[in-house]
Amino acid sequence: MLVSTALPVPPDGLSRLPQPQQPTKELPKMERGLSFTTGNAFYRRESAVGRDLSVLAAIAYKREHGQLRALDALCGCGVRAMRYLVQASADFVWANDACDHLRPGILDNLRAVAPPSCSSCPTERWKVSTQDANKLLLGCYLADDYYDLIDVDSHGSNSVFFGSALAALKRGGLVYVTSTDGFSCSKRPYNALASYGTFTRRLPFINEIGLRMVIAGVVREAATRNLRMRPLFSHYSAHGPVFRIMLRMEHGELDLRTNYGFIAHCSECGAFQSVSWDELGQTSACSCSKKNTYTGPIWIGPLHNIAYLQTMSRVAKELNWIASPGFDMKKLDPETSKLTEVLDVMLEESNPALPCGYIGLHEIASRGKIPTPRRDTLTRGLQKEGYVVSRSQIEPNSLKTNASVAECIHVAQQLFALQHDKLSIQS
Ligand SMILES: [Zn+2]
Repeated sequence: MLVSTALPVPPDGLSRLPQPQQPTKELPKMERGLSFTTGNAFYRRESAVGRDLSVLAAIAYKREHGQLRALDALCGCGVRAMRYLVQASADFVWANDACDHLRPGILDNLRAVAPPSCSSCPTERWKVSTQDANKLLLGCYLADDYYDLIDVDSHGSNSVFFGSALAALKRGGLVYVTSTDGFSCSKRPYNALASYGTFTRRLPFINEIGLRMVIAGVVREAATRNLRMRPLFSHYSAHGPVFRIMLRMEHGELDLRTNYGFIAHCSECGAFQSVSWDELGQTSACSCSKKNTYTGPIWIGPLHNIAYLQTMSRVAKELNWIASPGFDMKKLDPETSKLTEVLDVMLEESNPALPCGYIGLHEIASRGKIPTPRRDTLTRGLQKEGYVVSRSQIEPNSLKTNASVAECIHVAQQLFALQHDKLSIQS
């Protein structure tokens, strides 16, 4: 919010004369107890949960490895850099943004939380630069200056930073990538192909496709360097939309055979399934005899690492950033409520029995010619039949399950018939 400090207008007609431009004073913003200003930098309050998640991942990393050097390549006002420095106790943070006019604001924000160095901490704690992010990252690589965490909060479907971020990433390090392009996962398949190497079709779960195509882009780029990258968590936020994924460089063979493939979909009956490269050509027809369409190549592995998410949840609980199980969510402040729900649902989604995609309750109703089922009722019905079910962080009005679309419709129809019979008896 901007507060005008202009003088009151005099009542003598002088207000028609040009008035000297008065400076405006910005009220500081707060995020998890830290005060900062944004100036002219792009900032969205709604993205705070994405920053909470990356800070929790950074804290977990520091506890595991004993050190944390973070580089925020497109830092905006510097709020993420501040949070890595203070909340994740980063040993060093490099805050960079290509916009030179943001430098004073970034410096003010960082100086407010820690001196760049001092007599008791002679090692440099942070620095600010205003370079092109690719030049900066490749410069780090050329200088053998590698980072534990690289945050790339880019705009649109800009994947040009993937290669340079991987080049500057320490072995075992984390990279936090971004897409804000909600069209590539549905309406602009050739844009997705250019940016991430994935040809997208319009599937019922397009925003999960959005996360998976970004992961695929990083995995493919890493594979050219014989590096394995896997997601620790994948977060979708509708307000941008914003697709943010934290990936970790891991030891081991590339998993292109098992986790990088295709998703087949039948628009006739709604069935969908993951398809590996070895299975291509064997699934061209759906069981209903219609032809499948294919999206890919795309990440078909897990969206989250359950062990890492459990650690992040424990850290969040220690910090009082989330509520205990069973706490009345209506009594929580919005940021605690949101993060509690996001982490809970991500943990549910991490069940290894769950396949790609989610099934919308409206689709079940439409195909089954029944009223839209209640999510909790259908969940219990499917679980009673032995299926694994979770909520989806992307679409609240849907389910993730290892039951097929046809099986979901069948169970929903049975539940509806049962309810209808009960009402008939009562009347
Ligand atoms: Zn079909």
